[in-house]
Amino acid sequence: MIENVTVLGLGPMGRAMARAYLGAGYRVTVWNRTASKADALAAQGARRAGTVREALAAAELVVLSLTDYDAMYALLDPVADALSGRVLVNLSSDTPERARAAAKWAADHGAAHLTGGVQAAPPQIGRPEAYTFYSGPRDVFDTHREALAVLTRPDYRGEDPGLAAAYYQLTMDLFWTTTLGWLHSLAVARAHGISAADFLPHASSLLAGLPDFLAFYSPRIDAGDHPGDAERLTMGAASVDHVVRTTADAGVDTALPDAVHAAFRRGVAAGFGEDSMTKLVEVLGNSEIPGAAESDGRAARLAQPR
Ligand code: NDP
Repeated sequence: MIENVTVLGLGPMGRAMARAYLGAGYRVTVWNRTASKADALAAQGARRAGTVREALAAAELVVLSLTDYDAMYALLDPVADALSGRVLVNLSSDTPERARAAAKWAADHGAAHLTGGVQAAPPQIGRPEAYTFYSGPRDVFDTHREALAVLTRPDYRGEDPGLAAAYYQLTMDLFWTTTLGWLHSLAVARAHGISAADFLPHASSLLAGLPDFLAFYSPRIDAGDHPGDAERLTMGAASVDHVVRTTADAGVDTALPDAVHAAFRRGVAAGFGEDSMTKLVEVLGNSEIPGAAESDGRAARLAQPR
């Protein structure tokens, strides 16, 4: 039996997904705000819907690959009466709170909502190493597991619609801060005549050691145990201070190591200098401990859960 799927949103990711479904023999209907992005897919056999309403009518399974949830509301609010009976597989990035609000919004219109967080770049879609976090109603996930597996390996995290978004944003937190740390180190490296290629084996060696580092500390963190037996927060604070000064001497922006230094100093000032730097997990999550950084972006986004 030929399966139907609709893909709304044809950025690089949505296009890769529509192509994967075409390759797997699905009848694929596509729609995109900028219609020309559907041209190549139409030539490959996708059906181009003239309107969002038409796209929704074409399949029960509707994959959303949009910049964020605002884009989803912009598309679907005007045709909310056409959502009844649809399964919205929302693979757009946004916050856990917004995913929870969207699941409720979908249910209010008779649709099911599966939150997804794609752990792959577009060229990896349809390949075995790629996976996606999902959360939402288990029965809906199970019914559509095979169709979801066309895109990536599905990794179901639980019923709470916010969970997949939470896992996704946790990996993005790690990815973006680590990536900026790498770019920052390369900016400092330049001031010393060290190229990205020169530093590559050393950066790689350090990052390759991280899984063991994380495996050593994770059980201690979950147990609330932060002994300073291997390293102390005071040592970390001194070390980060050297990074800040090396950065300043190189004429490079110190905002990133300054932020790290502030977190370490906050932990020391709170009396945890003899503990491991892992104590910062608790310090960062405790607004009662003085010295928390303000974030305009966070306040602006969380003020409007939908
Ligand atoms: P893009 O931002 O390039 O494309 C997003 C799509 O959203 C486009 O089709 C765009 O339409 C549409 N869109 C944005 N705003 C609106 C709006 N207000 N109304 C209607 N349509 C709108 O994203 P990608 O394709 O790269 O990614 C899609 C999602 O997947 C994102 O949430 C991203 O975070 C996530 N993701 C992306 C990865 C990647 O490597 N690209 C990796 C993992 C996840 P139009 O073409 O008209 O502008």
